Amino acid sequence: MKKHRLALIGYGGMAGWHHENIREKIPAIEVTGAFDVREEANQKARDRGLTVYPSVAALLADDSLDIVTIATPNDFHRQLAIDCLRAGKHVVCEKPVTLNAGELEDIMAVARETGKLFSVHQNRRWDRDFLIVKKAIRDGLIGTPYFVESRVQGSRGAMHGWRGHKQNGGGMLLDWGVHLIDQAMQLFPEKVVSVNAHLFSLYGSEVDDNIKLLLRFESGVSVQLEMATNCFILQPRWHLSGTGGTMVVEDWSCKGKIVKLKAEGEMTWEDDIVYTEAGPTRTMAPRPRHTTQEEPLPAVKADWTEYYQNIVNVLEHGAELLVKPEEALRVMKVIDALFASQEAGVGLKVDI
Ligand code: NAD
Repeated sequence: MKKHRLALIGYGGMAGWHHENIREKIPAIEVTGAFDVREEANQKARDRGLTVYPSVAALLADDSLDIVTIATPNDFHRQLAIDCLRAGKHVVCEKPVTLNAGELEDIMAVARETGKLFSVHQNRRWDRDFLIVKKAIRDGLIGTPYFVESRVQGSRGAMHGWRGHKQNGGGMLLDWGVHLIDQAMQLFPEKVVSVNAHLFSLYGSEVDDNIKLLLRFESGVSVQLEMATNCFILQPRWHLSGTGGTMVVEDWSCKGKIVKLKAEGEMTWEDDIVYTEAGPTRTMAPRPRHTTQEEPLPAVKADWTEYYQNIVNVLEHGAELLVKPEEALRVMKVIDALFASQEAGVGLKVDI
């Protein structure tokens, strides 16, 4: 079987993941080469058995290469992707694909012109917590969802290295925001009609580092996204409110539950005012336990390398590309609108 030969441009942290996981799990692709601007990174690539090219031009001149994965800081993605496509390579680009929608449109024009595959490594579409949420929604386990909270919280005060610089496309919205927005838009494949960004810069003035976002979709469902690096009391990774129940995924280990009304489910208690610590209240009194039921989260299979298996299936069998440039373009348009919302200090109507 002919193997697809792949080279990496940028051989830093994430490139190591691509290299190892393709080698272990995707037999149809062979990672053969790399280029990095840092000699230390090039030496690491050599030590791991890769051919290191003296320049991007030299890498692109190697006709034996079929695919290039771009894993540099974000500000280099646009030009590198265009150069790779023009050199006749298929291209996988790390997220965020570009710094804005306009840059991605430039790449997409060249991809159309050359007929080469272009895709973005939105690997978090294969996160277990996300797949659980997606399945629960598709299977109607909480009825119709109307408010979804998705958050990642830490307390280590990032942004690290180039992620702290605007010129490099740093900042939390472009770093983690692009993942969580992509996931939200996968859950609700419909128009985004309004966005509201609250971007905070706690560790410097150059880029956003702690952010809260609100997206409203055409059907009326709203999604709140949060990415924090200054949070010392963590909230659940996911909290979903649906017409038929509530669902929580606590953390990356995917502990959690669904709580919904019992099947026969009517209110079977005296609808009286109850005296609670909240004072006398009917509305906020606890619901008697016998009227609800608890269910486990659905089981799913999750593996990031399915992304590359799909790339192989597209190249070999004409399968449908799972992460399409058009989807990435909608995500980048939402990000552009979120930056505009932050600038304006208000929520904005959009049609994306
Ligand atoms: P990194 O700093 O660890 O690695 C980047 C590498 O690119 C460095 O070795 C640097 O020397 C090299 N580089 C810089 N400019 C270059 C150029 N012009 N040509 C060639 N090499 C160049 O950063 P990272 O964490 O590996 O991030 C790289 C990309 O991967 C970013 O776009 C980032 O957003 C993305 N990323 C994605 C995920 C994910 O889960 N999908 C996770 C981490 C990073």
